[in-house]
Amino acid sequence: MTRRESLMLSGAALAARALTRGELRAAETAASGIDPQIIRLNLKHTWTTVMSSSEYRDTMHLRLRRDGITGIGEGAPIVRYEETAESAKKTVEGLREYLAAADPAQFSKILKEVFARVPGQYAAKSAIDIALMDWNAQRLGVPLYRYFGLDAKDAPVTTFSIGIDDPGTTRAKVEEAAQYPVLKIKVGLDTDEATLAAVRAVTNKPLRVDANEGWKTKEEAVRKINWLETQGVEFIEQPLPAHMIEENRWVRARVHMPIICDEGCLHAEDIPKVKDAFDGINVKLDKAGGVMEAWRMIQIAKSFGMKTMLGCMVSSSCTVTAAAHLSPLVDYADLDGNLLIANDPYRGVTVKEGKLILPARPGLGLEMVKG
Ligand code: MG
Repeated sequence: MTRRESLMLSGAALAARALTRGELRAAETAASGIDPQIIRLNLKHTWTTVMSSSEYRDTMHLRLRRDGITGIGEGAPIVRYEETAESAKKTVEGLREYLAAADPAQFSKILKEVFARVPGQYAAKSAIDIALMDWNAQRLGVPLYRYFGLDAKDAPVTTFSIGIDDPGTTRAKVEEAAQYPVLKIKVGLDTDEATLAAVRAVTNKPLRVDANEGWKTKEEAVRKINWLETQGVEFIEQPLPAHMIEENRWVRARVHMPIICDEGCLHAEDIPKVKDAFDGINVKLDKAGGVMEAWRMIQIAKSFGMKTMLGCMVSSSCTVTAAAHLSPLVDYADLDGNLLIANDPYRGVTVKEGKLILPARPGLGLEMVKG
């Protein structure tokens, strides 16, 4: 064999080896995938709070496929924080190469990197985190709550939310919600008295009330909360605008009812700022950036002796089920975002006489709804 023939042969061998690797990579790519998609969720009733009124919500859904396992995630963008379903999708697309190459079993490392690379966009972060947690728990063959060492029997009752409406519609909605033992009533406009009167005309159930920052002064908040104390209300959520932490501290010293912080506490680092001004916090996956951040917020709040609550945005059973898997940890649950929509793509957590029933299947335990 001449030197030239020898070189040609080794080149062919190299090419053959490169081809094999290329084929391997192609096979790996076929077996893995990062698919973000925007899904329009249609609301059963027009949904009105202090902030907005809407007929539908667009959320971003993510399918993360690897080694024959598909993890599903979802993020509900919050307009106030300059998020849209499109910006959430774009965020995932910008991370596609990184996510496709990363080992999903190293979810802590991935989330650290994602949080470092992306400013804001917590809905996108939440979708990535939920898909990773679904993937990992499926791979371990356990439902997600078991991964966190929780007992499904400890899952709390969830409230069912009644949005702001005219008294007749409010009465009808309360009657429709007969199976839920505790209701959450949205207030914060100048119709609060009429709303509560409509609710109390048809039920004596315990109520929780969410003002969504609707009251503008600390004096108004004290007056309204003292009135709510006569109406069988267990707690009040976010009576004053998010930035009015000191005013809320003033209110808290003048009322008996626990005050829960929602819009004023988005991330773990906000908790020390609100810890003496509120009795508890409302943790949402879409605000926090997923299951792991929500878990961290719950633990930090507990370390300050605060009450904890898990809430949600309007979203499908994907996000609501992910949150429900953490619900055995918290004092209160308001996980009804999926119950408000007419075209849920998944079946996951269910509700029986108000109590959250966690799926026993591995991962989030989601099943696709056909049709
Ligand atoms: Mg709230």
